[in-house]
Amino acid sequence: MRRFSRWLNRPPYRWWKWCTAVLVTAGLMGLFIIQFGWLLSGNGRLNQQFVQWAGGDENERQELITLQRDACPGAPFILPADGFIGLLYADPRGPYSRLRPHQGIDIFSNAEAGVTPVYAAYDGYVTRLPDWRSSLIIRVPEDPLQPSRQIWLYYTHLADTAGNDFIEDAFPPGTDELFVRQGTLLGYTGDYNGDSLRRVWVQLHFSVVLDDGDGRFRNELEFDNTLNPSPYLGLDVSYACEPGEGCGVTTVCAP
Ligand SMILES: [Zn+2]
Repeated sequence: MRRFSRWLNRPPYRWWKWCTAVLVTAGLMGLFIIQFGWLLSGNGRLNQQFVQWAGGDENERQELITLQRDACPGAPFILPADGFIGLLYADPRGPYSRLRPHQGIDIFSNAEAGVTPVYAAYDGYVTRLPDWRSSLIIRVPEDPLQPSRQIWLYYTHLADTAGNDFIEDAFPPGTDELFVRQGTLLGYTGDYNGDSLRRVWVQLHFSVVLDDGDGRFRNELEFDNTLNPSPYLGLDVSYACEPGEGCGVTTVCAP
């Protein structure tokens, strides 16, 4: 550090060195705030739950589980898996940020990979692209909340870390438009995360994806291509929403 400050104050280019150092420091601080700002200003209750899940034993984790096998009154979807809804829609935490918030919900399982069932949240047509190891998407021709449009329900992480899938045999890679009813077993939650070195907890990632207008789903990785699942589930699963506030949810199930 002392060598650095001596170098900084030594001519030539002293002024330029100072400017660059200030700009680099400001840039790094900006990046830090974008990535970790939620730690300072975030929702304390949600952060506390996250810590409880990460460090808790079996029973402490069980307290955080949402068990909701039937649709909430007035809501069209069932919750596609039981678990701790730990990363919410529009969530800036975890690997996400305020600039790149979470596009869906992560339902974490209190069990190892391959155990917790995943169900179709609504009637629709299953597609699994030939190279999808752990993912499915279900086309819902009529959005139950806005029947003039088509929407898609995206499911991922249904495989183990090696990429062995926990998807039911009825939906092999290449599955195209296979009709399923709400509640149909699709597979089991897992911890597959592609080729990424980042480990993920055993979970289901579930998101509601917009149609491109030509009958195909938009890129589900882009936040702007997704919808808040809360009114579909009748559950507050949006980061921006405190429990009981509603936020577009007319009937809210007790958690
Ligand atoms: Zn997710």
